[in-house]
Amino acid sequence: STATDSIFHVGCIDTQEYLIDPVYQKQNATFIMLARNNELTDVLSTLENIESHFNQWFHYPYVFLNDEPFTEEFKREVQNLVSSESSFGILNEEQWTLTDSVELNENIQLQGDRDILYGDNPSYHKMCRFYSGWFYRHELVQQYEWYWRLEPAVEFYCDLTYDPFYEMSKSGKKYGFTVIIPELADTIPTLFRSTLSYIKENQINVGSLWKLFTLDYHLVSNLTTILDKLINYPHEIINQIEDDIAIEYLLDTGLNDNETTMLGLQKLLSRSNTKVPLEINKFSDLRYNLCHFWSNFEIAKIDVFDNEIYQNYFNYLDASGGFWQERWGDAPVHSLGLSLTLNISDIHYFRDIGYKHSTLQHCPNNVYNGELSYFATDERWQRQGKQNHYDKGIKTGSGCRCKCPDSAE
Ligand code: GDP
Ligand code: MN
Repeated sequence: STATDSIFHVGCIDTQEYLIDPVYQKQNATFIMLARNNELTDVLSTLENIESHFNQWFHYPYVFLNDEPFTEEFKREVQNLVSSESSFGILNEEQWTLTDSVELNENIQLQGDRDILYGDNPSYHKMCRFYSGWFYRHELVQQYEWYWRLEPAVEFYCDLTYDPFYEMSKSGKKYGFTVIIPELADTIPTLFRSTLSYIKENQINVGSLWKLFTLDYHLVSNLTTILDKLINYPHEIINQIEDDIAIEYLLDTGLNDNETTMLGLQKLLSRSNTKVPLEINKFSDLRYNLCHFWSNFEIAKIDVFDNEIYQNYFNYLDASGGFWQERWGDAPVHSLGLSLTLNISDIHYFRDIGYKHSTLQHCPNNVYNGELSYFATDERWQRQGKQNHYDKGIKTGSGCRCKCPDSAE
């Protein structure tokens, strides 16, 4: 197959058979969730959901992290609910801190005045910094090779009848996402500049993922559309295009949903195992398109972050003060940081995982009759006249119907 990335298993499979297949190997993987004691109800709601749609078959363990000790009640309720082992960790001062100067308070106050989302909330800054540079180094997390990040009150719509860790491992994928969205520009005025400085000072040869975040995209939702289209493109045609021309086309046509753009992208992806040195003198032309993988959902290898290039990147960002002088989110930091080392072919788009966090959701819609999957807010979804309903197939027992929230039961 020439596909760069595709759905691991379309529809539902027989999980019992899958599990006893001798080639199947359970991975050294865990769920992780940072949470507060007072979020217990929402934590349980997430756990009930992930257990019923996935973990009742696979029994992967959970790591819960908190800046304060978990209460006995929290631990008991969690353990009562899940079908696997849970461990509970506390963050230390270094992992959960910002400088405690007067300057900090003034800066954060100012961000509130400027209406920056969560800008005046010190613990939100700490959370973003923790997820940017610390979670993968926590001793409870270090015991694993893979993680799946969860948050309180998220919803998975579909049964996941295969093991995403195993499938990613088998196909050489390192980082999986469900949603790409643009960051609020006001939260990261200097993040990209700092990133460029880091690249320049350390002469990093970035991965091809970098392209995804620096192409001039106006509508981020089309990134997933494009990724989806790439699955089905015939390889012979692509090889007829010269590299440079392909990139030119790509930059020129931007988001035009035409054949040329697709050919350009596919060409780029087909070469995606080459690390690209950035042309330093062209730095002033580079723009971050604000796209990022929405990091409240991640299925990834620990070492995509636990490596020298990423760790030094985080240290560099941390020293620059942007986690408190601005309100850098862990999502853009992850995405830009990953693009220093990863190629597009290392990324897996979980088109088939229906997922909701707060008001934004991804609903896998008609992914196997040729139509595209995309993420959408409810509003955008309705505007496009799509049905909020997706049937993954028929399976007895737990059932495999994947319903989106406003579809009829
Ligand atoms: P949002 O998704 O960007 O709106 O941010 P959330 O409020 O959902 O926070 C992201 C994650 O960090 C969630 O898992 C929260 O439970 C967790 N979190 C946020 N702030 C704190 C905090 O102060 N303490 C702890 N222990 N967890 C936090
Ligand atoms: Mn959240």
